[in-house]
Amino acid sequence: MKGKLYIVGTPIGNLEDITLRALKTLQNVDFIAAEDTRVTAKLLNHFNIKKPLISYFEHNKKEKGILICKKIQSGENCALVSDAGMPLISDPGETLVKQCYELDIDVKIVPGPNAAISALCLSGMPTGRFTFEGFLSKNKKSRMEHLNSLKNEYRTMVFYEAPHKIISTLKDFYDFFGDRQISIARELTKIHEEVRTMSVSQAIEHYSQGAKGEFVIIVPGTTNPDAKNKYTLDDAIKFAVSYVKSGETRSAAAKKAGKITGIVKSEIYKNIT
Ligand code: SAM
Repeated sequence: MKGKLYIVGTPIGNLEDITLRALKTLQNVDFIAAEDTRVTAKLLNHFNIKKPLISYFEHNKKEKGILICKKIQSGENCALVSDAGMPLISDPGETLVKQCYELDIDVKIVPGPNAAISALCLSGMPTGRFTFEGFLSKNKKSRMEHLNSLKNEYRTMVFYEAPHKIISTLKDFYDFFGDRQISIARELTKIHEEVRTMSVSQAIEHYSQGAKGEFVIIVPGTTNPDAKNKYTLDDAIKFAVSYVKSGETRSAAAKKAGKITGIVKSEIYKNIT
């Protein structure tokens, strides 16, 4: 009999947010795959749970995934946890779940807290339709591409950010989204939990004086009714130029930019300088 993989959500700050099912699952599985075994050991100690831990993170996911699946195939049950919140959401786990399905291993969900949804619920911004954008890339080109693709986004957008990068991210938001009213949630479920609604420029001024803790930024979508996923020729040229700079031919760059923006390739091609 094969075992199962359980994806288990853990608190994002307040340990009382652990669910009864999460505790039961962590107690009952044979081993736990954890992003950082030291962080998970603290959580387990708090709840008096003793279990073998296997580290599973971005840079060992291939080998460890194979090992974990072998153990599950031999009949052991595994819980996958990350340092905080839901595994797979800006955290490791995606590859493991895929590997399990390829091997016909049953995967179960034990849902728990999540910073993005918690911040969205507190934001006072539209929740009917939203997009989760996670962390912006450190790489300038993909960061610009990501932001460019959201310029005309009409749904509420949810971003994760680290305190030392919040100012540069807010400055990029100012350039791409303008001075919109945004919501910034900090240290959710912890002692210093706070939610502030202010314009991007006010946020830059506020956090220039210092930013500590964990942040989620909620940006409302554009209110321009014509904007729904429309790109200008200028946007398309910018995309194409960045592809050429990274080594693609003008033709390939124009084609790729055309695919993203819906603008005719030849129009883009003749404007690449
Ligand atoms: N898997 C997690 C989840 O389900 O929310 C997210 C993990 S991601 C590596 C860490 C980021 O989530 C932080 O940099 C921050 O943006 C956000 N985050 C996590 N805990 C938070 C909290 N208590 N308050 C605000 N943001 C938090």
